[in-house]
Amino acid sequence: MPTFDFPTWLLSLFLAPFGLILGSFANVLIHRLPQEAPADRDVVAKPSHCPGCKARIRPWHNIPLVSWLWLRGRCAACGWRIPVRYPLVELLGGLLLAGSVWIFPFGTLIWAKGIICGYALMVLFFTDLTAFILPDVVQFPLMALGVLFTLPQLIWPLHLTSVWAPGPALLRVETFANGLQPAPAWSLLDQPVSWLSSLLGLGLGYGLPAGLNLVYRWIRKSDGIGMGDFKMLAWLGAFWGWGPMLGILFGGSLLGSAVGLPLLITRKAGGQTMLPFGCALALSTPVVVFYGPAIWIAYMGMMR
Ligand SMILES: [Zn+2]
Repeated sequence: MPTFDFPTWLLSLFLAPFGLILGSFANVLIHRLPQEAPADRDVVAKPSHCPGCKARIRPWHNIPLVSWLWLRGRCAACGWRIPVRYPLVELLGGLLLAGSVWIFPFGTLIWAKGIICGYALMVLFFTDLTAFILPDVVQFPLMALGVLFTLPQLIWPLHLTSVWAPGPALLRVETFANGLQPAPAWSLLDQPVSWLSSLLGLGLGYGLPAGLNLVYRWIRKSDGIGMGDFKMLAWLGAFWGWGPMLGILFGGSLLGSAVGLPLLITRKAGGQTMLPFGCALALSTPVVVFYGPAIWIAYMGMMR
């Protein structure tokens, strides 16, 4: 039972504009969620305005990518230079949705999971980079969602189904029929994440770095990594299971050291300098989710 009979490129083209709009909304989240005043954190009711002069942005000046290029990267009212981050995030949103159907079978549970995770990582990467904040309002719902994604397999037993994969291939994947269409909790490489692995990922994702941080604080009298990072690992664990969560922590630490150590050595950063660890976690997640098992098998092969 194939899910959809459209060519992948057509789906991709159809989804791209929605991705650009989602990217545009991500810019709102990235700018407003880290704000101090609760009124400034409102991401729904308040209309778009220029952070430079507070002028309302006219709808025709708010078209993803096009407006930034048309206005040559400046606010139409005051000439404030709009950071390249804005069109970049819009473009990433477009690529996320357009690219999703090439990676995951369209309309399936794993497709939704991939998009939600990718979108959240994009928002968190930039809030951490620009404000050193990983907002709770994003991370707590993701913890619950990660576990909820494993529930269909408790209700509907696993069975093999054919779905259209990107390109001409027809894939046989393990799915949980949801009555409307096949909803495979499918990943490119591994078994679906079980509810137990998801819960373990949630608990260990928070507990392990929190424990390590307690030891660090005892020795160094300061925090090694922040609460926001524990919460990020917790929801990533709930999404991808406890094993990949450990991989993400390891990969993020590796990346953090690769950036942090040269800074320490060249004395551009002291021992107390904050580095946005959430950014490192966000970058290591896709590598682990897509290539984790392959890397692990290659590593075990080398050890033999
Ligand atoms: Zn302005």
